[in-house]
Amino acid sequence: MNWFVSMAYFIVTILFIFGLKAMSSPVTARRGIVWAGFAMIAATVATFFVADLNNIGLMVLALVLGGSAAWYSGKVVKMTDMPQMVALYNGMGGGAAAGIAAIELVRGADHSAMVATLMVLGAIIGSVAFSGSCVAFAKLQGLLNKPIRLPQQNTINFFLTLLTFGLGLTVGYSDAPSGFSIFLFFALALALGVVLVLPIGGADMPVVISLLNAFTGLAVGFKGFVLGVPMLIIAGIVVGAAGSLLTHLMAKAMNRPIKNIIFTPLSGEAAAGGEGPQGTMRETSAMDAAALMRYGSKVIVVPGYGMAVAGAQHKVWEMAQLLEEAGVEVVFAIHPVAGRMPGHMNVLLAEAGVPYDKIFDLDEINSDFPQADVALVIGANDVVNPVARTDKSSPIYGMPILNADQARDAIVIKRGRGAGYSGIENALFFEENCSMLYGSAQDAVGEIIGHIKSFSD
Ligand code: NAP
Repeated sequence: MNWFVSMAYFIVTILFIFGLKAMSSPVTARRGIVWAGFAMIAATVATFFVADLNNIGLMVLALVLGGSAAWYSGKVVKMTDMPQMVALYNGMGGGAAAGIAAIELVRGADHSAMVATLMVLGAIIGSVAFSGSCVAFAKLQGLLNKPIRLPQQNTINFFLTLLTFGLGLTVGYSDAPSGFSIFLFFALALALGVVLVLPIGGADMPVVISLLNAFTGLAVGFKGFVLGVPMLIIAGIVVGAAGSLLTHLMAKAMNRPIKNIIFTPLSGEAAAGGEGPQGTMRETSAMDAAALMRYGSKVIVVPGYGMAVAGAQHKVWEMAQLLEEAGVEVVFAIHPVAGRMPGHMNVLLAEAGVPYDKIFDLDEINSDFPQADVALVIGANDVVNPVARTDKSSPIYGMPILNADQARDAIVIKRGRGAGYSGIENALFFEENCSMLYGSAQDAVGEIIGHIKSFSD
């Protein structure tokens, strides 16, 4: 039986790895999700063959409760709320790993020094992932609106970390740790997660979630060692590695080293110190915007978070098709951190039916902007802010941006004069070749469509 289960775990692991690989491209992503889902079911079924028969009832109950909650929340969650949901699920994984460590500590099981160390590390990392993810959820959900920085924040972080590790190792190496010391250890570890994430600004939050996801993977992997379950070790390492890679890719796309994300906040307050862009924003009408595009030869559409909020992707694709019928070349430029998670815009455009060969990454498209008649920026802000190229004092200096300002004309659709996610004023909006079309993306693009049609009648 054990041989059968080991083989099943082995096949499941291969499926997971290929599933993750397939998710790296929009063309194969759905297939990857099906493989990973199938692997998850197979791993669960295999586990029943080696489980303690006394626990089968509890396992089924946990599966039914957890599975139903996940199924329901996955069905009803809005695409724009996905990062919060990921934060919450991720926190659950970290909490579960910490919970296993708590049980082992309370049981006072006799562990080797290495296993005890891994158990304590898993407990700390899992607790930090749990409480940090809860704070991240509260921030993204708008329950906590401002980054909260304590006086001497970095010193507090340092001593709290030291204290947590010190107490953790004392408890972990002790034969019969007291209930109070175990409680204090977990309270400190949970507090560490809170103080680490509280000061981090909104624009860095998706990176933090990915980092906490990597932490959860690591904590689960350590628990695999403690419990002697290879499947947990492998799954934990795969999640930890994937989370670390994603964190690295996001941080690179924003040109924000991880240490700056954790120790130096990126927020509107940080940006407010500078002079900010000077001049006035020029307003345009849907008719003028439609005419500029309809009588041009190349339009580059830059979608951002606002398009996602408005759910305007179907209308945007309808507009692009109308322009193409009129002989205008239309392509889509995707910034790696447009929206609130990597691939956010690709998923929305794919859902609307935009062919993959019309969607280009930053590196592929950036040199094309000077040849474009119009860069149509739809609900994007930070990812087209030229201060990232020019203003060394700006907190987003060095972040690669889409060169919408280099098109002959830039048209920006947004509801008002609000700043981007990072809270920084956008210099593009004050450029001479830029005009603003105020309104929700869905309505504004709808109006443009009406005018394009009227030109062709
Ligand atoms: P953004 O900077 O958040 O700006 C979105 C803009 O959309 C806002 O200025 C808002 O202006 C507008 N908007 C909101 N609702 C709208 C609606 N219904 N219709 C039209 N416009 C609307 O977006 P972004 O340019 O996509 O940049 C993404 C941000 O997330 C960056 O700061 C990035 O660093 C951060 N981030 C993303 C990731 C990721 O993986 N994607 C990871 C880490 C960080 P109004 O309020 O005036 O309408």
